[in-house]
Amino acid sequence: MTNEELKKTVRNIPDFPIPGIQFKDVTPLFEEPQRLQSLSKNIIGLYQNKGITKVVGIESRGFILGPIIALNLDAGFVPARKPGKLPASIIEETYEKEYGKDAIQIHVDALNENDIVLLHDDLLATGGTMAAAYRLIKKMGIKKVYINFIIELEELEGRKWFPEDVEIESLIKFPI
Ligand code: AMP
Repeated sequence: MTNEELKKTVRNIPDFPIPGIQFKDVTPLFEEPQRLQSLSKNIIGLYQNKGITKVVGIESRGFILGPIIALNLDAGFVPARKPGKLPASIIEETYEKEYGKDAIQIHVDALNENDIVLLHDDLLATGGTMAAAYRLIKKMGIKKVYINFIIELEELEGRKWFPEDVEIESLIKFPI
């Protein structure tokens, strides 16, 4: 299936989880075998021959395709998690949310200077979450980073937080 065909299966839920948000439900993309296969293949195809060594998935919807992408790229999988979830030594990056602060954490020994990293999450909205994840893994001195989303909400301009030379790919674009 093409990305345009996959786009038609994303379910829009108005006013979830709060009034005014157009929530993009990605679960229909995963529940049919053909969609799951096409979605995975379309992402994996973007990153073959890039030498990716680790896929970092953002909690929690980045954990669904992250390991599938990693397996197919012969890379490892590393979870980036919300505070208090990872058991060993962590480093963290905080970021502003609409109300208050949040943080994202990763195990300190999960990445090193030899790693070429693919950061993956389901959706780019304002970009706050992924920008924090990007800063976090840059602190770990990795070799190179690519960023991937299934969906991008273009009018929220989440890309503006990233340097121009960072390759950011999203399969499916909605205005908002
Ligand atoms: P942001 O930091 O604003 O880019 O938000 C990104 C995170 O929030 C992603 O992990 C998404 O899963 C979730 N998210 C934000 N807005 C939406 C939306 N309209 N529909 C579905 N998920 C969303």
